[in-house]
Amino acid sequence: MSNGQTTALRSVAVFCGSNFGVSPEYTDAARALGAAIAARGITLIYGGTSKGLMGVLADAALAAGGSVTGVINQRLHDRGHLHPGLSRHEIAPHMRERKARMAELADAFIALPGGLGTLEELLEAATLTQLGDHEKAYGVLDTRGFYQPLVAMLALATREGFLKPEHRDMLQIESDPHALLDRLAGWRRPDVSKWIGQPGS
Ligand code: AMP
Repeated sequence: MSNGQTTALRSVAVFCGSNFGVSPEYTDAARALGAAIAARGITLIYGGTSKGLMGVLADAALAAGGSVTGVINQRLHDRGHLHPGLSRHEIAPHMRERKARMAELADAFIALPGGLGTLEELLEAATLTQLGDHEKAYGVLDTRGFYQPLVAMLALATREGFLKPEHRDMLQIESDPHALLDRLAGWRRPDVSKWIGQPGS
């Protein structure tokens, strides 16, 4: 953090696909991450359903004796999407409140591969850290090079003058779950303002 201390991770929010992806490597990665989070005694915060990688992740954390909190929205809950075996769950009125609640509950964020929902959740968490609305680490578990195009996009945004290198580098990238959790726990927010060549902080 900006005061020089590192974060003790008590809870991590994981964003990931509500589909499985084409390769078993994705389900393997979700399983390994769920088990690693549980092994460290970290509470898993996630979308609360049994769908796709989300279900695999939650099942793995629960099977390893972990604590899992699902934050689901009312509509998906009413359609019967809630995972039946969670340690606890909360119901939020809509997707936006749900995301805000997940961010409140989590000390850090991880994205596994996923689609629009996953990318949106990751980039919102990143934006709030960049602006200082919260000071929480975030990273991706990079399976099959899935996140390399995002890394390239952030490099382009930096070269083109839209993103500071310090903010580009806030995204932690690892393919091993324990290495990623170590990085998130050791992360410190860079002490730079968002704006390039403009007054204001
Ligand atoms: P996507 O990557 O588009 O599959 O969306 C997955 C992400 O969006 C997850 O991290 C969830 O937080 C949220 N999401 C999308 N669909 C669902 C669903 N059916 N149940 C719960 N969360 C969902």
